[in-house]
Amino acid sequence: MNLELAAARDQALTVRCPYRRCLADIGQPCRRTDGHEFVSLPAHPARLTAAGVELTPTTPDELADQPQRTWSPTDAIRDQR
Ligand SMILES: [Zn+2]
Repeated sequence: MNLELAAARDQALTVRCPYRRCLADIGQPCRRTDGHEFVSLPAHPARLTAAGVELTPTTPDELADQPQRTWSPTDAIRDQR
């Protein structure tokens, strides 16, 4: 995780995650629905937005708000092809 993402995560931790399948409290990191911590994203896109984080997405799909599906590392691998 680079410095920009680390700063974005710190900023995101100052608000509660509004994503209804996560709802991480202030100070608690977002977790994926399988319980693992995020790898490429510092927090859920909705939480980043709520915290006022301006993040440059590495792939358009990475920060897209897609409530119907959960981002997973396999998506990033697919996007790089
Ligand atoms: Zn979250």
